[in-house]
Amino acid sequence: MDDIPPFTPVSIDDVPSIHQRVVNKFHTHTTRPIEYRLRQLRSFYWGLKDAESALLEACKLDLGKSAYEAYLTEVGWVLNDILFMSKNLARFAKDESAEDMDLTNKFMRPKIRKDPLGAVLIIGAYNFPIQLSLGPLVGAIAAGCTAVLKPSESAPNAARIMQHVVAESLDHEAYQVLQGAVPETTALLDCKWDKIFYTGSANVGRIIAKKAAETLTPVALELGGRNPAIITKNADPRLAARRLLWAKLLNVGQVCVSQNYILIDHDVLPEFIRQLELALVEFQPKGAQGNSDYGKIINERQWLRLKEMLDSTSGKILLGGNTDRSTLFFEPTVVQVSSPDDSLLKDESFGPLIPILPVADLDEAIRISNKVHPTPLGLYPFGSKSETDRILSETRSGGASVNDAFFHASIPTLPFGGVGDSGSGSYRGRASFECFTHRRSVTTTPSWIEGMLNVRYPPFTEAKLRK
Ligand code: NAD
Repeated sequence: MDDIPPFTPVSIDDVPSIHQRVVNKFHTHTTRPIEYRLRQLRSFYWGLKDAESALLEACKLDLGKSAYEAYLTEVGWVLNDILFMSKNLARFAKDESAEDMDLTNKFMRPKIRKDPLGAVLIIGAYNFPIQLSLGPLVGAIAAGCTAVLKPSESAPNAARIMQHVVAESLDHEAYQVLQGAVPETTALLDCKWDKIFYTGSANVGRIIAKKAAETLTPVALELGGRNPAIITKNADPRLAARRLLWAKLLNVGQVCVSQNYILIDHDVLPEFIRQLELALVEFQPKGAQGNSDYGKIINERQWLRLKEMLDSTSGKILLGGNTDRSTLFFEPTVVQVSSPDDSLLKDESFGPLIPILPVADLDEAIRISNKVHPTPLGLYPFGSKSETDRILSETRSGGASVNDAFFHASIPTLPFGGVGDSGSGSYRGRASFECFTHRRSVTTTPSWIEGMLNVRYPPFTEAKLRK
């Protein structure tokens, strides 16, 4: 890892020429053949395999992630995406025929070509620095696009290893990783792209969307959460406690799809709290501090934000609450709150805070969840089939996991994305290919059909009308 160059922001003066290089490369059409794309994917796979230990170490340095977690959610995740895409690419890229054609239209052979969008910009977030940057890049390569990737500067070690792997294993003219923070990203946004794929907070998402609108550039926005978990009277409190606690231990709760708050029926509250306590002891027998399975908050700025959130709640801390600024440690912390207006529900914590708001019944839970955020990224109903069905049919969200926390997001073939304020556009599996593909409708009119087409040409005589 020491032989890989350090994190170095790109010179802003160089951004336009690097942009032009990937645009020019796209216009050579060399990235279009399926064989080229498969070659890139194969080389990328082995480049990542060679750098596996450096990537795992980078996740440890940036986020304190254990190698186990980093492999499952970052490196292994992307390797699987590459294998899936390589296996299915030829099928995804095939032309599609139009549906339900009458005989005349059939003669024109209407079809949908799958054309690459062009040169694209991918902007990553810090919490899963590898998965969230390289996952979309796999989609761009598969679609035949060229791309610049700008990983999050908050995870500089992952960023520099990814830059090294891309430089070593992919076509340098077509794929580039550029490092930087706001000024460098702003310079990238000043260039004209064929698509911008952005993962991060909704506030920055607005900046990206505004900038893209100036040049009518399409965007995919993968934004933040404020996701509710709803636990009904008939839910199994043990399962709910274990599953929702896991969601806040993974990556120290820095997961866009982890639940931001829990709405729970009054009747199950005491047993749920007891089960949370039991699960915590089982998952972290020696506690969270010094536990090598449990990471850290990414940086001091985010740690302070979380601490301030915790300090300003009017709720009661039931479990946890310990923090250490010097090591960016933040204990999994369960807080019972009494109002949907509590600071812990108003903002996305993006950390190991578990606010619980007791409710009288399912009506109240649905009402509050729709009011706090009408379109969260994920929603997690726990209860009987009829209750969870009702919750799904009376709410909206990017995705949902019934009787679990964000399991839907781990299925590699399900499209992943938000709705409304939690984002637009989706990726993963086939959706990653489609995200960077233009579905180009094409017809081919044969010359022999001219006689039949005569009806469309003026003058529109009575005889033509009768046909
Ligand atoms: P962020 O918005 O601070 O940064 C994301 C990216 O945007 C970084 O690469 C950063 O350099 C760039 N950026 C930041 N400010 C910018 C500006 N003013 N102009 C141009 N670019 C700028 O997000 P983050 O802190 O890295 O991630 C946390 C947020 O991302 C949370 O809200 C979380 O829910 C969300 N998130 C969403 C998903 C998803 O898939 N929907 C996944 C992970 C994180």
